[in-house]
Amino acid sequence: MRPQQIIERKRDGRALSTAEIESFVSGVVDGRWADYQISALVMAMFINGLTKAEQTAITRAMLESGTIMDLSDIDAPKADKHSTGGVGDKTSLLVAPIAAACGLAVPMISGRALGHTGGTLDKLESIAGYNVKLSFPKIKTVIRACGFALAGQTRSIAPADRKLYALRDATATVPYIPLIVASIMSKKLAEGLDALTLDVKTGKGAFINSLPESKKLAHALCETGRKFGVNTGALITDMTEPLGKFVGNSLEVFECLTILRGESDPQMYQTLTLSIELTSNMLVQCGVASSLAHGRKLSTNAIDSGEALERFRKNVEHQGGDPRICDDPTRLLKTRTVSGAITAKASGYISGIDAFAMGSAVCSIGGGRVKAEDKIDHSVGFESRLKVGDRVHAGETLGIVHCRSGSQATSISEKLHPAYKITDEKPKISKLVRARI
Ligand code: URA
Repeated sequence: MRPQQIIERKRDGRALSTAEIESFVSGVVDGRWADYQISALVMAMFINGLTKAEQTAITRAMLESGTIMDLSDIDAPKADKHSTGGVGDKTSLLVAPIAAACGLAVPMISGRALGHTGGTLDKLESIAGYNVKLSFPKIKTVIRACGFALAGQTRSIAPADRKLYALRDATATVPYIPLIVASIMSKKLAEGLDALTLDVKTGKGAFINSLPESKKLAHALCETGRKFGVNTGALITDMTEPLGKFVGNSLEVFECLTILRGESDPQMYQTLTLSIELTSNMLVQCGVASSLAHGRKLSTNAIDSGEALERFRKNVEHQGGDPRICDDPTRLLKTRTVSGAITAKASGYISGIDAFAMGSAVCSIGGGRVKAEDKIDHSVGFESRLKVGDRVHAGETLGIVHCRSGSQATSISEKLHPAYKITDEKPKISKLVRARI
């Protein structure tokens, strides 16, 4: 089938057959389709839409463009959690060891920082020596040792997505639900899972801002997962203010270890709560917990008993990192940074903290990527001293930016003032879990 014929059909608003979609996806992987032809078809899909059947066909073709992990010889339910991306969204680092401590096997294939949002792999690489480039046999060995592995997408997992995502990013065709579904699910379904819990973020700091659109995405993701035989559920969660206390790579690992050690402070409460909610969902979906309340109890026990921390320690050892961070998380914060305080200009209640502004600011000082090849500065970031709903007095410190130079600290902390909304009235606090699918 010639690419021109397939592009022409979609350009004219007609549905593509499964054979045409398979021809397109195989052409993406083997180079028969040029980048301009791929981009033209993706733009036609974006403008003229994809039917449910086309969405399923493209997901299947992308999934089958690579290998599907076979974990059948690991005697535990296989489950994973995937987030659509947020600011300070570090729950993967907690969900994986907690779920493992509760008896699940978690093959967590994660991503890197994208736009204003952070990436699990970059966070993990702030641990000295930690290796996220694992082969499939190594992923299995690590899971056998501690119950979970945290790794990057290998060349053999959904290779069509790697190429397609880069071209979508460059041609402004990312925000279209059927293409997002195919991209996310082709990677997640390659993990050979029994169950998948999706954390679909909604609000200013998410890729999708509105609750109805987030619900639409969650439904489409769940429907696709179930079609492929994976028990799939979703939580739609708030991403209007940064999650928890820290934004920034080593700072976020520090927060997670502090929580696993049972030493969390009130600003970390959201991180802990959401991690427990997501893990409970996974436990219920796998039949390990009889209800969400039971799942919460099991998850909380896994932290309180120290088992989740021990799982994390073993994982760090097996993935080449320095396990001493588990005994002393401040080891992660040894690189010298300069702090800039953001202070309140008025007294009142904090009624909003702009997650997008915070994520973008951390990215601009080196904590994220503007281009795929950018190097990350693991030490910089942002610290919430006060959260939405807290009372504040004029002159009090709202948050701290951790930068590399005094001038950067001054200019960024000044720029971030408008990210805080202070009102006389106590605000209504958004629920962390806005909906469940
Ligand atoms: N994350 C992905 O992996 N793919 C998308 O298309 C969007 C977010």
